[in-house]
Amino acid sequence: MSDTLVPANPDILDGVDDLMQLSYLNEPSVLYNLNYRYNQDMIYTKAGPVLVAVNPFKEVPLYGNHYIEAYRKRSNDSPHVYAIADTAIREMIRDEVNQSIIISGESGAGKTETAKIAMQYLAALGGGSGIEYEILKTNPILEAFGNAKTLRNDNSSRFGKLIEIYFSETGKISGAQVQTFLLEKSRVVQCAQGERSYHIFYQLCAGASPALKEKLNLKSAHEYKYLGQSNCYSINGIDDAERFHTVKEALDIVHVSKEDQESVFAMLSAVLWLGNVSFTVIDNENHVEPVADESLSTVAKLIGCNINELKLSLSKRNMRVGKDTIVQKLTLPQAIDARDALAKSIYSCLFDWLVEQINKSLAVGKRRTGRSISILDIYGFESFDKNSFEQFCINYANERLQQHFNRHLFKLEQEEYIQDGIDWTRVDFEDNQDCLSLFEKKPLGLLSLLDEESTFPNGTDLTLANKLKQHLLSNSCFRGDREKLFTVVHYAGEVTYETTGFLEKNRDLLHLDSIQLLSSCSCHLPQAFASSMLIQSEKPVVGPLHKAGGADSQRLSVATKFKGQLFQLMQRLGNTTPHFIRCIKPNNVQSPGLYEQGLVLQQLRCCGVLEVVRISRSGFPTRMSHQKFSRRYGFLLVDNVADKDPLSVSVAILHQFNILPEMYQVGYTKLFFRTGQIGVLEDTRNRT
Ligand code: ATP
Ligand code: MG
Repeated sequence: MSDTLVPANPDILDGVDDLMQLSYLNEPSVLYNLNYRYNQDMIYTKAGPVLVAVNPFKEVPLYGNHYIEAYRKRSNDSPHVYAIADTAIREMIRDEVNQSIIISGESGAGKTETAKIAMQYLAALGGGSGIEYEILKTNPILEAFGNAKTLRNDNSSRFGKLIEIYFSETGKISGAQVQTFLLEKSRVVQCAQGERSYHIFYQLCAGASPALKEKLNLKSAHEYKYLGQSNCYSINGIDDAERFHTVKEALDIVHVSKEDQESVFAMLSAVLWLGNVSFTVIDNENHVEPVADESLSTVAKLIGCNINELKLSLSKRNMRVGKDTIVQKLTLPQAIDARDALAKSIYSCLFDWLVEQINKSLAVGKRRTGRSISILDIYGFESFDKNSFEQFCINYANERLQQHFNRHLFKLEQEEYIQDGIDWTRVDFEDNQDCLSLFEKKPLGLLSLLDEESTFPNGTDLTLANKLKQHLLSNSCFRGDREKLFTVVHYAGEVTYETTGFLEKNRDLLHLDSIQLLSSCSCHLPQAFASSMLIQSEKPVVGPLHKAGGADSQRLSVATKFKGQLFQLMQRLGNTTPHFIRCIKPNNVQSPGLYEQGLVLQQLRCCGVLEVVRISRSGFPTRMSHQKFSRRYGFLLVDNVADKDPLSVSVAILHQFNILPEMYQVGYTKLFFRTGQIGVLEDTRNRT
């Protein structure tokens, strides 16, 4: 924390519900104010146009019908997610403009809970058709398949989500659509000590009926290698079996047939059994083939393929060299790679397929002419000891969102100044365009260079790092580091990335043999997965290709696909009136009542709340109407001004207190002050 002395706020400002009311907008005051409120379970606070939500890590009595009603009637005006959702509905109807609620914050800060609270309010106000129940039921499904226990959060979303809820002219919900971003696939085959894979695996193992268990040859979670490697099977206070039933009910409600549900569970079981497939060396060149045991036969049975074909696809790879096709035998690491790649694609295709089913179900009454409110729950800025490709993508996304945020605030401020006849050219705003350019510039930006290196068969993590350093050192947001390290100066701080695995993850190759295997399956889900993977290719793939290691490299790279998704997202958000919610995690141990100043400060800086404060400070953050100002401070004047108008009284006060001309501006209706100016007047007023 800052070690210079900064002025404290007058006591009357303790616990104000909008930080902008603080006459001294410094970091300690903001922290103190949030803490003061947090201790009284007032977890919501406004920072100008932004809602700050501090995670209580316990049930707080702020939700439910009673509260919803109070916000609907506007009889409660303290800051709340409900108030934001209410404003969104009203503005959607009043201005006939689509709205968005953009929720950000670190892992565990409360984004997903906040999104659900907002959905709850929208469903309560816009409900009636019944579709609102379906919308609410998407949450348990997406959380089961897309959330996992991590060291930071027992229910961490491993994907980004935008849900767009459609309303009819009368303000009733008519449908919805879900879009997901960048699911963390690697978790299916690998996760860190103390973390879990996706909830659904444990739920299925714990909650499946004996009949289903037998049909899918399901064992307990402990018997699967993919689930066993992290030494963590359960979550405190969570009953996986019970959750499984909730998920099944939710699937019923969004019209996934019992038959399809069983196919979904069969795919999950197949993924788990794939992880148990082991290999044995078959020649003296260390080539391997899968052991023909229960795991292999179960996988073949569950996905509906010939066991020999499965065996082949996990031990050989077809490659085209020139005009010839050659068959390459796999070594153990290559075979494990092929096996894990298959498991990851089955899972991620399954996830996408579920989202598609949900969307079909929610599209019922969707009329394109209606208005909508979108809720974005996306991973916040991440900076760990080791940062990899995932952090790289996530932080890039946050850089984009931050620009959206800055530009929106800038616009809001500007509008207010113009409306009141203030010269706004005297207000400086910072932009993060330089950092975005570092990512996006063609051909010499991070993403282009990454893609280029990904297409070179001989590219390695080290050649990538060198290439970045060779081309980007002149950029002020980039710093080269030793070996595979490079640093990006993000708006929220510097992050050092390690290129290990970047190329692999960016290419995200699925061997063509595996696609062919899936399309040969007799079950409908694997077939659907195979065709969706082929659709993702830029061009139809007809035969085995030799590129980047003999796999299909014509698919878009992960980074490029993500960039495309982000652009599309920004375009959609660009046509909406945004409402920002910044979630804050007050401690790293998921405990109630523990407020760590340092941690909160760091997040306030990262998620742009202090940026709002800073932006406002660079302008004229304190505003007071001429009337209010003259009434509040008029009595301090030495000269009698009883018969004067509010504006003249105000000007007289400004003169008497020698407030410097650059510290304020006089608008048509309001006085605008730089930070801290009102403090002097308040002090005098309190002494008199
Ligand atoms: P991630 O980025 O990892 O997905 P997140 O920001 O979505 O994290 P959540 O899963 O929403 O975080 O919240 C983490 C936990 O914090 C919740 O499981 C819940 O226990 C608690 N929590 C969050 N918000 C609230 C709230 N408003 N009231 C009570 N508990 C909350
Ligand atoms: Mg979440």
